[in-house]
Amino acid sequence: MGGVGGPEKLIVNGKRLDGRKLNEMREMEIKVGVIPNADGSAMVTLGETKVICAVYGPKEVLPRRNLDSEKAFLNCVYGMASFSTSERNRPGPSRRSTEISKVIADALAPAIFMEKYAGLEITVIMEIINANAGTRTAAINAASVALADAGIEMRDLVCSVASGKADGQLMLDLFEPEDNFGEVDMPLAILPNTKQITLLQMDGMLTKAEAKKLIEMSMKACEQIYELQKKALKEKYGSEKESE
Ligand code: ADP
Repeated sequence: MGGVGGPEKLIVNGKRLDGRKLNEMREMEIKVGVIPNADGSAMVTLGETKVICAVYGPKEVLPRRNLDSEKAFLNCVYGMASFSTSERNRPGPSRRSTEISKVIADALAPAIFMEKYAGLEITVIMEIINANAGTRTAAINAASVALADAGIEMRDLVCSVASGKADGQLMLDLFEPEDNFGEVDMPLAILPNTKQITLLQMDGMLTKAEAKKLIEMSMKACEQIYELQKKALKEKYGSEKESE
């Protein structure tokens, strides 16, 4: 964060550098069932951010030390393809990917009936194909529909977006220049039906009133995301249900 090396301004004539309004999300596309070899899968495109997610399970927990007799072992693995960033990204786990994998597991778990899968593992692999900010939130959106696609019993989907502040203005769904050179980045995830917040991180400083406004803005966008997630699931399962 901070302006060093970045564009002089992130808002010009009231518009963002990609032409969006402050409360406008990038175009989002969701496709379910993109990996036939997985039990469930999804791809989410959010502007230039692209993530693919595969879900495996419920299955035997390996290694056995991860077994939890009370609930599922939700094994989330977030990774970035070496070609996903403008400079080649070193493949393999990093501090950042380990942290993101953990917060994603915490964001998804409240949506899953974890006790139903006691002693079993649910594996969620999320690979960033192209990164342009908002990768953890795009990964959560993909993972939640991929879990549903795998037939994992859930109480809700999980909807997620990263908003923030740049050039002194609050804005929805940061893209890379705003994330890198803006003042605040605040990823959020919610269960859309109960509005329970399952992820809230913040990089930078906001007043209490600004934080409240930004959360409201993100929550509203999550309603849109929820509709897109349901539509994507219906695209795969809608016709099957109708013909039953
Ligand atoms: P998120 O992708 O969830 O917003 P960060 O705030 O950590 O997570 O990253 C913001 C953006 O910075 C990423 O989406 C990506 O565009 C860029 N970025 C992150 N890590 C790297 C990296 N190792 N190399 C190049 N760009 C990166």
